[in-house]
Amino acid sequence: MERHAMFAELTEAFGPSGYEGDVRAIMAGHFSGPMSVSTDRLGSVVASHEGEAKGPKILLAAHMDEVGFMVKHITKEGYIRFLPIGGWWPQVLLSQRVNVRTRKGDFEGIIGSKPPHAMKEDERKKPPEIDELFIDLGVVGEKGAADAGVRPGDPIVPVGDFRPLANGVLAAKAWDDRVGCAVLAELANDLPKHPSRLYLAGTVQEEVGLRGARTVAGLVEPDVAFAIDVSLSSDTPGADSDAVEKFGAGAAVLVHDSTMIPNVALRDFVCEVAEAEGIKYHLTSLHGGYDTGAIHISKIGVPSIALGLPSRYIHSHVSAIYEEDYSALLNLMKAVTQRLDSKKLSEITKFV
Ligand SMILES: [Zn+2]
Repeated sequence: MERHAMFAELTEAFGPSGYEGDVRAIMAGHFSGPMSVSTDRLGSVVASHEGEAKGPKILLAAHMDEVGFMVKHITKEGYIRFLPIGGWWPQVLLSQRVNVRTRKGDFEGIIGSKPPHAMKEDERKKPPEIDELFIDLGVVGEKGAADAGVRPGDPIVPVGDFRPLANGVLAAKAWDDRVGCAVLAELANDLPKHPSRLYLAGTVQEEVGLRGARTVAGLVEPDVAFAIDVSLSSDTPGADSDAVEKFGAGAAVLVHDSTMIPNVALRDFVCEVAEAEGIKYHLTSLHGGYDTGAIHISKIGVPSIALGLPSRYIHSHVSAIYEEDYSALLNLMKAVTQRLDSKKLSEITKFV
């Protein structure tokens, strides 16, 4: 499959936390072939491949879920009040298109609020809270909503197409974390020769608290783990201009996030591999968490690190990445996978 077609399929797929089925089916399709595919009991999909029988168990995790919403209740007039699933900044929601999945199909709607001309002066100055917003499907009354099959609990996602912009910048919804899913898909489709037992996992429910990562760690019991996810680009007006994270900076190696301090020997190994292969990378940190936040404290501990890709406007209807950074991240994961063997594992886990 051509890369942009794969990006479009993955980013446009419907998959808020807890409703990852469509993405899971796409990932299972990429995984089948040289790898054997299974799932845990929460819905994460795991592909495995044995390069060497006694090699270390290496887990590469990317989350399949995206931030979205859920139907909370339906008003007498037929409008939907909704809950956020994952972190949303309400300012990005007004007048955006969404897709509501009911038992009768997918219905497109618009996020509305009290009209500005009906607001008092001070109301107009502050952004609305999410619970003041509603979704308009075009239906009339409770009966109209019922005819569309709308019920509390129905999942909702932003509507957004994959669109290449100028200069190698790619816009889409849900780059967080379908870009990590894309890396796993490309690895599975062109599996590097590796001295390990390799596990590629599309995890569920990351955006609501790294839940799928926990159960995948239970299933795989990895020796080493990587999260592949988005990091934050700081090259837009008003962002932290001192930060190194920008489009063109290559793969991001996370030295700190709110859920984990990475294994230092593993971090250094990843940097050495990037330097040896001439792959662009940078060291960065982030306020937030990754799947490795749950994986690294499972069982007796798992040496872990999160690798990212500079991204703009995540957790909105349209986010952006830079294609060359994607290639750097993919190449880094390939090179790390090829070199991480039993000897390296014993170095990484040697504390005394
Ligand atoms: Zn993410």
